[in-house]
Amino acid sequence: MTAFIPYKDAPELSGDAAASFAMSVDVEDYFQVWAFSSVISPDSWDGFPLRVGESTQRVLELFDRHGAKGTFFVLGWVAERAPWLVREIASRGHEVASHGYGHAKVFDQSPGAFREDARRAKALLEDLSGAPVIGYRAPGFSIDRRSPWAYEILASLGYLYSSSAHPIAHDHYGDPRGPRAPHFPIKGAGFIEAPVATCEFFGRRVSCAGGGWFRAAPYRASRALLTRATRDLGGPAIFYFHPWEIDPAQPRIRSAPLKSRMRHYFNLAGAERKLERLLEDFVWGRIDRALATGALRAAA
Ligand SMILES: [Zn+2]
Repeated sequence: MTAFIPYKDAPELSGDAAASFAMSVDVEDYFQVWAFSSVISPDSWDGFPLRVGESTQRVLELFDRHGAKGTFFVLGWVAERAPWLVREIASRGHEVASHGYGHAKVFDQSPGAFREDARRAKALLEDLSGAPVIGYRAPGFSIDRRSPWAYEILASLGYLYSSSAHPIAHDHYGDPRGPRAPHFPIKGAGFIEAPVATCEFFGRRVSCAGGGWFRAAPYRASRALLTRATRDLGGPAIFYFHPWEIDPAQPRIRSAPLKSRMRHYFNLAGAERKLERLLEDFVWGRIDRALATGALRAAA
């Protein structure tokens, strides 16, 4: 069964309500990614040159050029060090949402530590943006069968939706049998999980949501799969990427495992052009508005 989801606190309808696709950006820096967490501890983050401000600024300019709107899941740690960036994102009409504070995987945290991380980021981002923060994305899509308790905590903190599920078979995360469409993960509550885009062929799931997959696949394949995902889901497919993916000059982390380096550095030079083609070919909007207007429907 599908249901129309009007949010009580829905923002006003706007031009991007008719968007066919939902764009999201996980605002974190190149040294904070999960792939490098075995060799870079959060205690050492302050020792790395910060590049996320500049690369996110380039993303904002790219979006403006194409009239695209999106949801920016900002890491609290980044917001503290580049508060101007949060204000800039909000002032250009994008949704400021939360990527948590310290980028720890949800299923590696205790429920208490997770609550504090998600609370701290929300408070910080609301202070800086001057608007309610209703959306959350878990670092590394780390809400899956190991951490279903996370949704109740997010709802109790005042978040209205999460886009933390990537329902595919993956070595680090995901539930290949989890719902692909937006759904209510807490029985009897209006809190929504809106998974990032996937396609299904003969019962097998493939991701078409972004990240390394987008950098590796030919552009035309990405376009075809995203179109199909939107048709299958009956609403905007959710795409994601990181500002460091269009920053080929970022310092290389040579101590990281080879597999992590291959994933992280693959085709950084070509990613911006590919992203630009996506912005040219589709109409992009914010996740909160897609949910608020019922453009995304949740299966009860
Ligand atoms: Zn992240």
